Formats: sequence, structure tokens, C-alpha cells
Amino acid sequence: MHPLLIVTLVATAVYLTSCAFHPYMKCKQCNRSKESHSTTFKGAFGKCRTCNGVGHHVRWGARVLGRKS
Ligand SMILES: [Zn+2]
Repeated sequence: MHPLLIVTLVATAVYLTSCAFHPYMKCKQCNRSKESHSTTFKGAFGKCRTCNGVGHHVRWGARVLGRKS
């Protein structure tokens, strides 16, 4: 087997194991606050549009493993 292929397989296995235990990524836009703050009107805020008010995203690997939300 090609050494690079083994490295890729090991990396994928590590990544998927990580996704199984930690399936979510925090939302970079709201930093888990789930809110989107207005830059024009001070104090005005709404649901974060990037994560849809959830505060996190499901990681790609976790979606592959069958996690939905
Ligand atoms: Zn967000």
C-alpha cells in the first residue's frame, strides 16, 4: 500500500473518531451566543443567520456518521 494512502486513512479515522465524540463546531459568526448583533443600531440583535440561532454547526464528518442536528 502507498504510504500516503495509509496516512490519509489514519487521518480520516482520527477525524471521524473525533467527530463521533465531538460532532459540533461552534458558530464562528456568533461564537455560540446564537445572536446576530446589528452594527448600525446599537443593542439591536436577532437570531444568528449563519447557524440559524442554534449556536453551532454539525461537522462534516458527523454528518457522514449520520448526525443531523
Ligand atoms: Zn451563529
